Amino acid sequence: MPFAAVLGQAPAVTTLERALASGRAHHAYRFEGPPGVGKELAAFALAQALVCERGNGCGECSACRRAVTLSEDDPRVPQHPDVVLLGRGLYRGLLGSNSGEATGISVEQVRRIVLARVGFPPHEGRALVFIVREADEITTQAANALLKTLEEPHEKTHFVLLTSRPSRLLDTIRSRSLPVRFGPLPDGIIASILEKRGLDASVAPFAQGSASLALELADPEEKQERDAFVQAAFDALTAPDLAPALKLAEGQKRDRDGLKAQLTFFAQAVAAQARASIAADAKAALARAFQHRTVLQAIDALERNVQPALALEAMFVRLRSG
Ligand SMILES: [Zn+2]
Repeated sequence: MPFAAVLGQAPAVTTLERALASGRAHHAYRFEGPPGVGKELAAFALAQALVCERGNGCGECSACRRAVTLSEDDPRVPQHPDVVLLGRGLYRGLLGSNSGEATGISVEQVRRIVLARVGFPPHEGRALVFIVREADEITTQAANALLKTLEEPHEKTHFVLLTSRPSRLLDTIRSRSLPVRFGPLPDGIIASILEKRGLDASVAPFAQGSASLALELADPEEKQERDAFVQAAFDALTAPDLAPALKLAEGQKRDRDGLKAQLTFFAQAVAAQARASIAADAKAALARAFQHRTVLQAIDALERNVQPALALEAMFVRLRSG
């Protein structure tokens, strides 16, 4: 049961299980889907199935265990020599600091980690599996160096390219790989993942189908930060001038998804106030309803790739005018 830990991705898992059962695992898969939905987990499960001593990804043999156990020291890569992880900045120590990895997976990484290996049979004979994190970060130069190998790898060699931004993937890479699609996770599955870890499952509906975002949201420190954001946003609404709003917008170093989640909590707090005031003060309730819509528009803007700080600024200007 190599894919037992991959929850809520039945179509993807079925595709992979069928390929394995027929002995025809593709040589270059491309796992596409939002962040934090199990793509990397599935890639490691596939690697286990391919290198397993018992041939079935038992999860218990030495090969299976080493395939998913990362070394303690940098680079943090699997202990199994035939399961090779790639990712931007992963081999900083080996490649040196000026290896050009500030913007992407460099040609140096492809040369040293992939091309130096692919000419040889797997160390332990079963399979050689390359897992590439955020494959959309492969630079053009690195992709060019990889193309021939990706197209016609040696026998028993497999690539699993992971991406949450498939549209950014180079066409040359896309055309040489087979897509396997992963979807957002249902809230129920996210809640059970949180419960299993003893975390607050009530944040599940705000995680946009991402287990990793849910774990972040359920983190007590995160909750404190989120509550502080909601408080600061309310303060900025009623402040005599725009300065606190601008300060809050400027301080947005969070990733887009994180900010979207915070704004979702802010929108929820505004909606709660609207409901609370509707009986006593209809005018105040209407004002809150306008604010609620405005916050949702800001979330929408973030989804359309508006810069986080800009989206927040525009939101506060609109909120304060209402
Ligand atoms: Zn095994």
